[in-house]
Amino acid sequence: MSRNYRKEPLRIFIAAGHGGPDPGAVNAALGLTEAACNLSIAMLMQQELRRHGVQVKLSRYQDEEDRLKEQIAECNAYKPDFAVAIHTNAGGGTGFEVYYQMEPWANSKISLQMANLFDSNVCRYLTVHTRGVKTSRNLGWLNQVTAPCILVENFFIDGPRAAWYSAPEQLEKLSKAYVRAILECYGIPYQPDTTVTLRYRMVTDELTTAKNCACPAVQINGNYYVHLRQFSRSFGMAVYYDEKTKQILLYPPEYYTESEFQSGLLKISDFEDPASRALAGIGTGISIDEADSWHFDEYEEETP
Ligand SMILES: [Zn+2]
Repeated sequence: MSRNYRKEPLRIFIAAGHGGPDPGAVNAALGLTEAACNLSIAMLMQQELRRHGVQVKLSRYQDEEDRLKEQIAECNAYKPDFAVAIHTNAGGGTGFEVYYQMEPWANSKISLQMANLFDSNVCRYLTVHTRGVKTSRNLGWLNQVTAPCILVENFFIDGPRAAWYSAPEQLEKLSKAYVRAILECYGIPYQPDTTVTLRYRMVTDELTTAKNCACPAVQINGNYYVHLRQFSRSFGMAVYYDEKTKQILLYPPEYYTESEFQSGLLKISDFEDPASRALAGIGTGISIDEADSWHFDEYEEETP
């Protein structure tokens, strides 16, 4: 069954609550601040979302002042498909909770759907009970963000399981659960991060020269995907994306400039689907099956 890929990459805004002079909730005994937990989770989510070709903007990338008013203004200017505010709870209790947007009506359906997916994914991947899906009329984030959005409370920073929740493995699981929820909501398949080394024989120069090459690849549904930049480097070529003809060209390295290469790579919106993004060196890579124009044969291991 073929999927309909979005014409434009999905855009997600993530507000990492608090920061700088405002640490948010604090657990002095464990040396935890809400601002730091929120930022760790936001950064992990960004990495994982980008791996799936999603465009991501964070409200901050370091420990700096980041007031709610500025987060909302920045989010509205970015015009994301969806926005998530990351917070950590306090006041006694335990477990994750999520708030969805009731208004405007046009946002409420996807906001509630996303909130339910966040709740079920946290429950599943951390094997914990959650406090469920809620709403509130008093949260500025939900009231003033124009895109559909939610606000999550990761866990209770002063709760009985704060040490367990704030351990690096748990923060990573939490951020992956959030990312799985976002991907599921937009029908983007989750891709396990399974890198293998692919070996192949490259035939170049009008079939006169053969070269044994190796390149990192990701195996998805039985196909191997390579990152074109790494793939071409493995046989000594560089990638150039021609903005005018929208063609991917391979050059010997002396024939391209790094700046042209960089601008080609960053034009994600020029690519209709993951396969063409991958061809330009963005995302997970091209399928070997689709790559017959590259003139290479699968390398066969010699049996001793
Ligand atoms: Zn907070």
